[in-house]
Amino acid sequence: MTPTPSRAVQLLQSLLHLGPLLVLAACGGNGSSSSSSTSSSGSSSGDSTATVPGAPTLYATSVADRKATLGFTSPTDTGGATVSSFEATCAASSSDTHTVTGSASPITVDGLTNATSYDCTVKAVNSLGSGDASVSKSLAPTATPDTTDTTKLPLGDNLMVTAAPASTARGYLYSCSTPDSSQPGTTNKGPWFNSDGTTWNLGTKLPYAVEGAESWASSFATSIVSSLRSITFNGVPSHGTGQFPITSATSPMASQYDTNGNKIVAASTTWTGLKTSPTVNSTPTCLGKGAIGVFLTGARLFAAMDAKGRDARAWEVTDACEGHPAPGNNYHYHSMPTCGLAADTASQHSALIGYVADGFGLYGKQGDNGKILTNADLDECHGHTDIAVPQYHYHATEQFPYTVGCYRGTPITSHN
Ligand SMILES: [Zn+2]
Ligand SMILES: [Zn+2]
Repeated sequence: MTPTPSRAVQLLQSLLHLGPLLVLAACGGNGSSSSSSTSSSGSSSGDSTATVPGAPTLYATSVADRKATLGFTSPTDTGGATVSSFEATCAASSSDTHTVTGSASPITVDGLTNATSYDCTVKAVNSLGSGDASVSKSLAPTATPDTTDTTKLPLGDNLMVTAAPASTARGYLYSCSTPDSSQPGTTNKGPWFNSDGTTWNLGTKLPYAVEGAESWASSFATSIVSSLRSITFNGVPSHGTGQFPITSATSPMASQYDTNGNKIVAASTTWTGLKTSPTVNSTPTCLGKGAIGVFLTGARLFAAMDAKGRDARAWEVTDACEGHPAPGNNYHYHSMPTCGLAADTASQHSALIGYVADGFGLYGKQGDNGKILTNADLDECHGHTDIAVPQYHYHATEQFPYTVGCYRGTPITSHN
């Protein structure tokens, strides 16, 4: 218990001018052990208990041409002083480091080099300085947005699975039923099926759309009570449709490949009990035949399989809006309708276009910064979280399974 070690520490601290820093390092910023060190150092510091803030949480990044956008949440530990700004930094090397200061999430860091790997972090700043960096995320900006070649869309017939897909699987549809070739459906392959046997051509199929100009009195409304959403709709779309049943007189081209004899009928329906904050389940749930969601157009979303268990968008003939009626006369789509929805805005995340039966939202084809999404950007159920929409959500894409690959949440019991 001699005073010698204590004096040695004090000498070291004053020689290195590190007194306050050592205090911070020793007590982790919470001030619990500062009284024994500050009393004898003789420096002018130590009269404030505030420190720099804790590390923000960097939860999402997105890339665009020569830039990256970082989405983050503020640290709960402000250091005892108001967090006034944030520093977002992306570094490829010491000479290729870019820092942008902003007042809130998200922050876009520009001036980056495309196809170069950067490690990006965010720090919170208060009156005492900048705090610890967040855990870093790696990214590479890209000049050309990902697009899908619609002349060679993957045919989904062999992409149906009847067991929950692995978390790393992409582009599958988890069906509750095994394929059944005895079910009704066309067997006549249209010229839009490519000769490679594994792809099909959307543009070649378009002229075979069901013709006509029927119009409908559509209704669609949602309401929320106690965090549960109800959707009341009448199943007919807010846009015009082709004329159904398909006949050779009204649709000579379509009728060569599809003789859908159903018609479109309005019937008021209410879905209830959709959670506004659904749980993201670790194990997905399979999709059944029939409705799995409702679009804001007032008509239903079906999964991307026909009655036989094949790629419905490739095999079934629809009208120009990509809809048609099912047995029971419900008009529905197996992909994103090309009518009745607000157009996407360049450089922005798509708007909500519908609700899925597990309560999660369905959005259009654009992710953060307007990036055209592909299956590679989404999880095994065809959804994700991002900066613009932090809650889990599904996206429509041009690629199979087009909208939803499996339920990420738990679907409501009744969604016909
Ligand atoms: Zn269908
Ligand atoms: Zn998104």
